[in-house]
Amino acid sequence: MSTKVKRTYASRVRPPLPSSPPSTLSSSSPPQPIKRKRPFEEAFSTTNIPPPIKRSKSNSKSQSKLKSTQKPLTQLHFSLDTSVLRTCPLCDLSYTKGAPADEDLHKSHCARVLKGMEWGREEERERGKAGVEEVGSGVRLKDGRRGRIVCFRADVGGRIGSKLTTLLGTVNLALSSPPLTQAILQASKAYLMLIPIPSTNSSSHREKIVGCVLAQHITTAMAIASPSPSSTSQTLPPRSLIPIDPTTSLFCHPHPLPTPLGVPRLFVPSTHRRQGIATHLLTAAAKTFVHGCPLDPGKGEVAFSQPTGAGAGVMRAWGRGGVRIYEE
Ligand SMILES: [Zn+2]
Repeated sequence: MSTKVKRTYASRVRPPLPSSPPSTLSSSSPPQPIKRKRPFEEAFSTTNIPPPIKRSKSNSKSQSKLKSTQKPLTQLHFSLDTSVLRTCPLCDLSYTKGAPADEDLHKSHCARVLKGMEWGREEERERGKAGVEEVGSGVRLKDGRRGRIVCFRADVGGRIGSKLTTLLGTVNLALSSPPLTQAILQASKAYLMLIPIPSTNSSSHREKIVGCVLAQHITTAMAIASPSPSSTSQTLPPRSLIPIDPTTSLFCHPHPLPTPLGVPRLFVPSTHRRQGIATHLLTAAAKTFVHGCPLDPGKGEVAFSQPTGAGAGVMRAWGRGGVRIYEE
């Protein structure tokens, strides 16, 4: 009943306990010296049976020797001492160190954020069924490697669908974004950049997903207010503008304008950044999202829902100042 409260992160709730297990353990026959709140007994026991109390007072480690015959009760709180919230400097995820579930989650997330996921044989086999199109081949990265860009509906099922689900889960965690709704996925296409994984075995052709852009059909978006070049900080920003992000002094005009393409997610694993991958993916999306009608970000035909963070610079440079903002 009262234990219900503790169910979420059992490991974190336990720390208050450590004082009680030693006392129960040390007391084979004498009434527990320091159990709970019993000031009288405690007072007595200090005089009567010194040895147990010294131990329990000094620290819990010495206690552990005593209970070699006992069950592993105390080990619980020893391992708990190490379970602290840690933020990984590589992937930025906060997790409980020492909690196996958290550690596992972090391990797989960290690898995906750093290196990307794989596009393997299984995915390639389902290509036709899933309607995967290749919209770019021999695409050159800045380091000279070449990759290709594939595109498919974001609500696709099967193996490719579950791969995309995992990928977007990683992206959302990395960008601290909410999961995309089914409605958004139904109106979206995924664009992935794939580069071959070098292999000694030529028969096992595998590729790495080194970037992902989600492109969504939208109807309207808002124009970003261009900072006036001769701005005295006094005259900027007019009250009619909407602040997008307080930390970047980015504002937009509140009037919705017809806009066909939205980009709700843009992600490149950290070890593949600065290779022009995001730009390639955005260009491919603008070119192919509406069949037979290439879109021009410079003319305000593309909008982003999350114009902050690591992708913001890419987005602005690629959009030549014409990129708009929309709400997912
Ligand atoms: Zn990490």
